[in-house]
Amino acid sequence: METIFQPLETKVLDVITETPTIKTLVLKPPEPIPFRAGQFMQLTVYGEGEAPFTPSSSPFETETMEITILKAGRLTEAVHRLKPGDMVGLRGPFGKGYPLHKFEGKELLVVGGGVGLAPLRALLNALFHDLDKFKRVSIKYGARNPDELCFRRQYQQWQQLPGVDLEVTVDSANGNWDGKVGLVTNLLDDTDIHLDNAFAVSCGPEIMLKFVTLKFLSIGFKADQIYLSMNRKMSCGMGICGRCNIGPYYLCKDGPDMNFADIQQYPDVFG
Ligand SMILES: Cc1cc2nc3c(=O)[nH]c(=O)nc-3n(C[C@H](O)[C@H](O)[C@H](O)COP(=O)(O)OP(=O)(O)OC[C@H]3O[C@@H](n4cnc5c(N)ncnc54)[C@H](O)[C@@H]3O)c2cc1C
Repeated sequence: METIFQPLETKVLDVITETPTIKTLVLKPPEPIPFRAGQFMQLTVYGEGEAPFTPSSSPFETETMEITILKAGRLTEAVHRLKPGDMVGLRGPFGKGYPLHKFEGKELLVVGGGVGLAPLRALLNALFHDLDKFKRVSIKYGARNPDELCFRRQYQQWQQLPGVDLEVTVDSANGNWDGKVGLVTNLLDDTDIHLDNAFAVSCGPEIMLKFVTLKFLSIGFKADQIYLSMNRKMSCGMGICGRCNIGPYYLCKDGPDMNFADIQQYPDVFG
């Protein structure tokens, strides 16, 4: 009998190198896995372990699932050694995902840092699927250097969509980069988003999330207009192990994407 504890045996169809440190696995589960943008999976690399990752593909395409993974330590190094034809395990989805219904008719400011653009790509794909429901999608993305820009192969396609704009920056330039240099927060200084009818969403390293949140607040967003991907260390994914809580919230069950108004009063929001 299938249970939430039993990983689904899933084939690696393809491995796409996004950057020197980030790869996308294209996975073919034995049956479609429906998920909402922002929900996450537990991925098992057999013999190595299991960790949480958010699909980066569209929730509207469930025959295959893409997961985009930064090489960070032992498990993710094993992920980066996977080849087409290898098998992995998938449990999930877990968490709540983004409240897309609340975003309808609004402008969305989507701010990513590094591999944080991976979970956001599932959200973007969901928004792009029904673009006429949203007033505008404004994407701001920062990476360490031009080589580390994730999903660069798709930027042109995204920018051509009606009502979608994208601005990219790098912490430090190299080679023949003639784009912006500076932290992603700098891109928020002169945003022309209409604050009275907008939501801001962000995913990235904890330190970036902190400064992006402060910037959101300083340019006039209210706490309840801000959603943060709180991808804090978590283990079980289903509120049993108690590792990921902020105040009364289990990020694995109540998030990982949290409304800032709900968590801002707790001391350990940014680690
Ligand atoms: C809900 C959620 C969604 C995530 N989605 C993605 C994703 O789409 N792509 C991606 O590349 N990464 C994602 N992560 C982070 C990913 O789980 C960790 O990078 C991974 O567990 C590291 O495992 P490791 O054995 O390679 O590294 P380790 O050697 O265990 O650690 C290396 C680094 O990763 C951090 N880390 C370790 N375990 C976790 C964990 N469970 N959660 C967060 N950070 C951790 C450590 O603090 C350390 O800085 C997500 C994390 C969460 C909680």
